[in-house]
Amino acid sequence: MLGSHLSIAGGMVNALHEAKSLKFNTVQVFTKNQRQWKITPLKEADRKEWLAELKRLGWEDRTISHASYLANLGSPEPPLWKKSVAMMREEIERCHALSIPYLVFHPGAHKGAGDADEQAGMERIATAIVQLLDETSDCSTTLCLEDTAGSGTTLGRTFEQLAEIARLVEAKAGRGTRNRVGFCFDTCHALAAGYDLTTPAGAKSVFAAFDKACGLDRLRVLHLNDSKGALGSRIDRHEHIGEGAVGMAAFEFIMNHPHLEDVPKILETPKGETPKGTPWDTLNRRRLLRLVHGEGKPATHRPRKTAGAR
Ligand SMILES: [Zn+2]
Ligand SMILES: [Zn+2]
Repeated sequence: MLGSHLSIAGGMVNALHEAKSLKFNTVQVFTKNQRQWKITPLKEADRKEWLAELKRLGWEDRTISHASYLANLGSPEPPLWKKSVAMMREEIERCHALSIPYLVFHPGAHKGAGDADEQAGMERIATAIVQLLDETSDCSTTLCLEDTAGSGTTLGRTFEQLAEIARLVEAKAGRGTRNRVGFCFDTCHALAAGYDLTTPAGAKSVFAAFDKACGLDRLRVLHLNDSKGALGSRIDRHEHIGEGAVGMAAFEFIMNHPHLEDVPKILETPKGETPKGTPWDTLNRRRLLRLVHGEGKPATHRPRKTAGAR
């Protein structure tokens, strides 16, 4: 399952049309302007058009919404925390109205100084999630905690932090919350946070660490991005597949992992076209598909065409 983050400019349904024309079989969108607190209601015509096309494509089980970057569920300031919870509630309700099963969000930032602040931040995030699950109990949307590059005081830079937030949610609200809380793994963020995915052995051990902490069975979304920032740089800047510090080993590992086959994989790489006029999404898609081992064609006998090698 491969897709890209696409624009909803001119109507929600445009993202589906564009995904289809780029030969993807899923898509990620913002369901509202991600840089504004202001919420303009979802237009009914827009919703109907989206739902009809979603049904026609048979994609009701696989699309993703990325929550606004403004929300900070880890905020120590009550007004901002409340505002963030209210916005996330709107995000969840929109997903439900649009038959989008997965809502990806960055856990939040604690804005403090020490380790104690980290734990307090994770507690606040968990409290927010518990409240949100309760307020949206009629929605089936899965809230996917995304790993982060870890700049500033952002939480979620380690798999253990993601797992801890989910554990706190479960401790407060019970095991029944497990199917509504999952994870999103972003390759750029993981590398920038210090996880060395650059070799086949590295990629394998990083995913083993993720599995141990969070559980691969709870991984709902993958963000496939190369990284402009170096390993451990904590810089969150996405690069085209094979042209950054992540390199091809991690993508080859992901594209051939049997348990990840049905996990939607989303490109959040830069948009636009190459000098030859090919959409970058098309090129990045091809680079990923080239890594898929053919039947009866073991990796070692396959000609290595490392995309992006310059
Ligand atoms: Zn991401
Ligand atoms: Zn990012």
